Amino acid sequence: MNKLVIVGTVAFDAIETPFGKTDKILGGAATYIGLATSQFNVDAAIVSVVGGDFPQSYLDLLANKNIDISNLEVVKEGKTFFWSGKYHNDMNTRDTLVTELNVLEHFSPVVPKHYKDAEIVMLGNLHPLVQQSVLDQMHKKPKLSILDTMNFWMDIALKDLLAVIKNVDVITINDEEARQLTGEYALVTAAKKIHAMGPKYVVIKKGEHGALLFHNDNVFYAPALPLEDVFDPTGAGDTFAGGFAGYLAKTGDFSFENMKKAVVYGSTLASFCVQKFGTEQMQQLTSEAVRKRLLQFKELTQFEIILDK
Ligand code: AMP
Repeated sequence: MNKLVIVGTVAFDAIETPFGKTDKILGGAATYIGLATSQFNVDAAIVSVVGGDFPQSYLDLLANKNIDISNLEVVKEGKTFFWSGKYHNDMNTRDTLVTELNVLEHFSPVVPKHYKDAEIVMLGNLHPLVQQSVLDQMHKKPKLSILDTMNFWMDIALKDLLAVIKNVDVITINDEEARQLTGEYALVTAAKKIHAMGPKYVVIKKGEHGALLFHNDNVFYAPALPLEDVFDPTGAGDTFAGGFAGYLAKTGDFSFENMKKAVVYGSTLASFCVQKFGTEQMQQLTSEAVRKRLLQFKELTQFEIILDK
């Protein structure tokens, strides 16, 4: 089995959607990624930082999912990263209300010894210099490095972001961020420009409209499962990335054909994430529920067509 290193935020989130509002709850890119990868029983470690205000029960929750948190640093006198966002009525777009970096401001990640030879590195949303530092600590180039990012880092650390993007195999990014990064409206053109920046594979997430996978001239599209109950899209992108990375870690096959399946797993897990607030649904998710939904997914997207000669 392939080992997986995950770096990203472990956070407090306060979320407002048209369906309700939460106080500070468990969030963060690495949290969502970790919970998604735990579906695949892979050997995964989270490298991140929290403050002394972070409840032990949240740490236990991650550890109980078999995620190695020995290098999830706790800065006793510091405060945990805090993010707050409010979704518009379309549930696809949101405004960030607050981003408090807190302990992240001076974070220098340490990859556990046992994971320095990990085959896969999942660079979740975090300062690009921290993402690069994780890559630099690996004993040799990982078989697959995947990077996720967001507009926040494009706004404040574009040069560092472009430098780390150059070094990764796969980038997962949402449509608006792809447009911001490239200055291109058409996603096919944006993907081409991102290829030229370094990554051989480009995944563009389109929220409720699914995800696109690009590799040279090959394109694959997976829709998002149409759902009746969408309460909170927070973490859907990270859950997608976690499902994608987790499936690849489990199978160890990094071909385009297998990445298509990884996209389907990512979309399937993300469809659960949005059905409850925060990480609630991902905490309870069973493999049986995932299996059922994968079958639904298959039915939704398969068709036979007879074409005239
Ligand atoms: P997503 O909805 O997939 O974009 O991810 C939302 C998660 O990203 C939330 O749990 C936040 O804690 C986390 N987050 C928000 N802003 C940032 C940021 N600037 N850097 C890293 N993580 C962030």
